[in-house]
Amino acid sequence: MTTCTGAAITADELPLNNSFAELPPSFYTRLMPTPLPAPYFIAASGPAAALIGLDARALENEDFVAVFTGNKVAVRSQPLSAVYSGHQFGVWAGQLGDGRAIVLGDIATPHGPMELQLKGAGLTPYSRMGDGRAVLRSSLREFLCSEAMAALGIPTTRALMVTGSPQSVVRETVETAAVVTRMAPSFVRFGSFEHWRSRGKQDELRTLADYVIHTFYPEFAGAANPYQELLAEVTRRTARMIAHWQAVGFMHGVMNTDNMSILGLTLDYGPFGFMEAFDANHICNHTDQGGRYSYANQVPVGHWNCYALANALLPLIGTPEEAEAALDLYRPEFGRKLDELLHAKLGLVEARDEDGALFDDMFQLLQANHADFTLFFRRLGELRVDEPGLDAPLRDLFIDREAFDAWAVRYRERLRAEHSVDARRRSAMHAANPKYVLRNYLAQVAIEKAQNGDYSAVHRLLAVLERPFDEQPENESYAALPPDWAAHLEVSCSS
Ligand code: AMP
Ligand code: MG
Repeated sequence: MTTCTGAAITADELPLNNSFAELPPSFYTRLMPTPLPAPYFIAASGPAAALIGLDARALENEDFVAVFTGNKVAVRSQPLSAVYSGHQFGVWAGQLGDGRAIVLGDIATPHGPMELQLKGAGLTPYSRMGDGRAVLRSSLREFLCSEAMAALGIPTTRALMVTGSPQSVVRETVETAAVVTRMAPSFVRFGSFEHWRSRGKQDELRTLADYVIHTFYPEFAGAANPYQELLAEVTRRTARMIAHWQAVGFMHGVMNTDNMSILGLTLDYGPFGFMEAFDANHICNHTDQGGRYSYANQVPVGHWNCYALANALLPLIGTPEEAEAALDLYRPEFGRKLDELLHAKLGLVEARDEDGALFDDMFQLLQANHADFTLFFRRLGELRVDEPGLDAPLRDLFIDREAFDAWAVRYRERLRAEHSVDARRRSAMHAANPKYVLRNYLAQVAIEKAQNGDYSAVHRLLAVLERPFDEQPENESYAALPPDWAAHLEVSCSS
């Protein structure tokens, strides 16, 4: 194991601080993780390990496996679980908190502190009816998707590694336990603020806001109204994060306010999904029967969640008008970012008045034909301005080929208007439109093998997803449409 400076360190020597532990004790409970029997290494992320100066291969060492399962506590670790509350599916849920997550501390990096957290490390005072555990299935989904999203350039928490244990965990069926080591500069959520506001604890509310500003938004510390600046920046970041989701077809599935990061990171991967046959009303979470968190609804829900944060911060901000002014940034920021991403996805360098209509009609075409979202944009990059006769692979994604042809005529006109060059546009579009995303069936295949003790499919899938924009001829099958058996795959909140 080597650090940034090249010196080998052991798990015990992890250079951990815990800035969150410097907050008053009402913010958390100090506790030890609960050990799991016979822990074993499953996978680690090289890019995530590099962020904290570690080498992923060394994480296979039994000391690291013990520390990152919660069976052993590193010397400098001050483990704790944080309290928060939140709105779940639009309804106030009261106190929640880290019911199965335990923060080990944070490591200083050139880009600021990185907090390490074990998810599934045992009961905490916030476990409510839960068992404090996470199953292998959901842990692999979180591990793979965190790293896939990072490779796609989407703001997200990271996943360092995943370990397993033969310990049984009961969900709909009996499964086995796993622990994901998650990393983020902070896991503070909108619900962390709602918690204190709902209890009328203004001092704690201010303490938390000051901690977040001081540690993560120091540029606002000297502002006339730092809390309004905080809300404004979180609103903008949330809007940009959701624009990224829409542009790549990512659906979070559980956008409760306790799953919304104060840093604008994608947080808490549960019943997420990537859009396949396009349907703006698609609901990826089987538990979400009303479709509150459908693909299209992610946009207004992101705004709604910022309202909940604004409401929590209101006593610090001052007047409702000042909070409104910050919230009003959501729509323009979302629109601006999505517009930028769509221009890149279509290989358009210039912005023109008619582009909005071209984008809208493209989404209508995708909707009417339920075309595969990822394949459509990837194949669009192969289009040649003057050779519609070569459109077949793209055109074949549509049932109504004439409707596609009509849209393609307009797209070609638009490309000609800015003198677009095929080869240059193709490479720019391939850098904006991934070939490989974490389709549910790909995760399912890797999970089923892992449940039988074979982790090679997890390793291979991770390697594919770490280079989502690259052509990987040897991994062509990972870019394929879902097989028939996957049509009825369901993912729920069960994790
Ligand atoms: P989630 O929907 O996964 O974000 O979880 C919502 C809340 O339930 C959070 O406070 C979690 O910590 C808690 N929770 C979920 N699953 C468990 C579990 N198995 N044991 C304890 N708490 C859990
Ligand atoms: Mg959560």
